[in-house]
Amino acid sequence: MTDWSTLTDACGSAEHVPALLDRFEADPSGVWSELMDHLCPQLDLAFTASFAALPRLAEIATAGRPGTLGWVLLAAGAIASCSPGLSDPGSPLTVFSAPIAVLHDLTDRRLSQTAGAEEYVNLLQALLSFEGVEIWDRSLDGLQSGEYEVDCPYCGVNIFVVIGQDDSFCCTDDYALQDVLKSPLQPARTQQLEGLPRRLFSRALADGQEGLAHGVRYLFGRAACPDCGTDFSVAERVAGWIL
Ligand SMILES: [Zn+2]
Repeated sequence: MTDWSTLTDACGSAEHVPALLDRFEADPSGVWSELMDHLCPQLDLAFTASFAALPRLAEIATAGRPGTLGWVLLAAGAIASCSPGLSDPGSPLTVFSAPIAVLHDLTDRRLSQTAGAEEYVNLLQALLSFEGVEIWDRSLDGLQSGEYEVDCPYCGVNIFVVIGQDDSFCCTDDYALQDVLKSPLQPARTQQLEGLPRRLFSRALADGQEGLAHGVRYLFGRAACPDCGTDFSVAERVAGWIL
């Protein structure tokens, strides 16, 4: 049995966490914010109690009441994304590998049944979090919002990388407010994609998310700085911005 009194969450002692999880199970959308305030504030920080909550979250997810599963997987995914990586001795991803495998499996299945791009991207990030994939488990939102912000590796200017269905480009000024100088993007060719980018592309396509698959080619493609012309890898700059 977990001795919750020895664990902490964002507010101190975690003794109240089992009761909070009970309330979350009963009303996931209503209690989501409160749960995250305690276990994963800003979806960016986790505590001993956060990881200790994963077995219970896996149980709640397995019970699979309609309307519950999405919330539970996102909560667990956010917590897992804050875990030290698999190479870290004693990583919660290893300690809690059994419930994480259950959560991964449920996320994998739900992905294939999810049509909405926003939920799809959130679930895809959760899937990567459960696998211990770093950086990309929290950097795919731009595929859905259509924008990444990076800096030029040479002159340092702030650059918007805009990945749209009709128009993709990069620019240094706010393109929503004014006409701007647009510099074209070079999407990766499908056959050039390898490793994780290849997997993200194929998965999105297989799940009917053509728009996201299209975006993956741009995210893992190249751009040129509109100010100084320096050619750079979009993904490398996105990863550098996140770290
Ligand atoms: Zn530049």
